[in-house]
Amino acid sequence: MDMQKLQKNRTLIKDAFDSKKSVELTGWVYDTRALGKIKFLVLRDVSGEIQITAVKGKVADGIFKKLDKVSRESVVYVRGTLKESKQAPGGKELIPEKFEVIAKAEELPIDVSDFSKTELPKRLDNRFLDLHRKRIQAIFKIQSTISMAFRQHFIEKGFIEFQPPSIIGASSEGGTDLFEAKYFEKKAFLAQSPQLYKQMIACSMEKAMTITPVWRAEKHNTIRHLNECRQMDIEMGFADAFVVMKQIEEVVQYIVKEVIEKNKEELELLGVRLKIPKAKYMTFAEVAKLMKEQGVHVGKDDLSGEAEKKLDELFPDTIVFVHDWPLSGKPFYIMPKGEKADAELSEGFDAIYKGMEISSGGQRIHLPDLLIERLKAKGLNPVDFKDYVDSFRYGAPPHGGWSIGLERFTQVLLGLENIREAVMFPRDRDRLSP
Ligand code: ATP
Ligand code: MG
Repeated sequence: MDMQKLQKNRTLIKDAFDSKKSVELTGWVYDTRALGKIKFLVLRDVSGEIQITAVKGKVADGIFKKLDKVSRESVVYVRGTLKESKQAPGGKELIPEKFEVIAKAEELPIDVSDFSKTELPKRLDNRFLDLHRKRIQAIFKIQSTISMAFRQHFIEKGFIEFQPPSIIGASSEGGTDLFEAKYFEKKAFLAQSPQLYKQMIACSMEKAMTITPVWRAEKHNTIRHLNECRQMDIEMGFADAFVVMKQIEEVVQYIVKEVIEKNKEELELLGVRLKIPKAKYMTFAEVAKLMKEQGVHVGKDDLSGEAEKKLDELFPDTIVFVHDWPLSGKPFYIMPKGEKADAELSEGFDAIYKGMEISSGGQRIHLPDLLIERLKAKGLNPVDFKDYVDSFRYGAPPHGGWSIGLERFTQVLLGLENIREAVMFPRDRDRLSP
């Protein structure tokens, strides 16, 4: 089959419904049925579904014979004319004039019907086939809107998009959650965040954004963590925690607005109703007090999952910014309150939305001596961070930023049970393929 000709002449199913002329369609066989002298085939492409109807004697014999013999999910080509039909989905059916199987599907290892009950691990083993499903496609169409809206919003605000390295020589955050890589004669690591690089960029080019993969060798298997995920990050010069929290508020509102406008069908298919969120600002101490009143446990320097859920219950459709976070619960690069190394509190925050952390951020330390003190306090060796510390010696403004996990955000926005639903090819403790 001539693909160049096909690309020119083919119509998407959603556009075919309005066509008065004969149309050429391609897609996947969703279902077939034979009722004696009448046969049906439901064809699906990325845009929709259409019923193809063949009545014996009214279509070519070859087509009638073939129509219900094609296996599910086979790829086919069909040319035909639309006819009004009360019973057909969408009010029209296609009467075929030409029908060809482009690629026959073998016996399917999982059920890919709309009502499939196949469990997630089995679906992920066969993700390439799972991606045939409308419901799954809807998730990733929405995710595409999310990342596009994120990029668009910040580019319009004068941010530059940067590409950080993925292979790094030393830990960017401290800690042990790093994947080691062999790098010629040296030891290297996969980046667990673009943190140190985006700070250097904010201290030179002021406003920077990226969407970049990161790797975290966290051993535990949870429904909200992956070992490879994508982060949507920004970093800004001349900023404190409040300047950058406002950026989250605005971009999340913009993203939700775009998803509501651009993904109506997908949201409906997933049964998700979205509202543009409000924002609420609270200190960690205020949240701790509130949770105590509610009888909910809060960690000393972190929020429990239970507390995150409670915040959503108390403040639905709201991004809750929890700031003035205890210093002990934040990484070494977060600015201590009052620029004092031994402060109780920090300029760090978390953003909680729909019962889960979607982002962490804060003002960073731009003062080399203070940074060295904080590294030591966290049990890290300043020598290992020499380039990073030195980068603040030659004119570095106060700056801040944050990171939103793309898959985490997708999960939260769509209310998905497991974060693995929000990544096409998840990498977790047990999964390296497909
Ligand atoms: P959490 O407390 O949820 O484990 P974190 O505080 O370790 O996350 P950060 O380093 O603050 O994570 O990362 C910034 C954002 O990236 C998080 O708010 C979250 O949206 C996302 N994120 C972090 N770790 C993961 C992961 N392992 N898998 C998927 N997304 C993640
Ligand atoms: Mg965090």
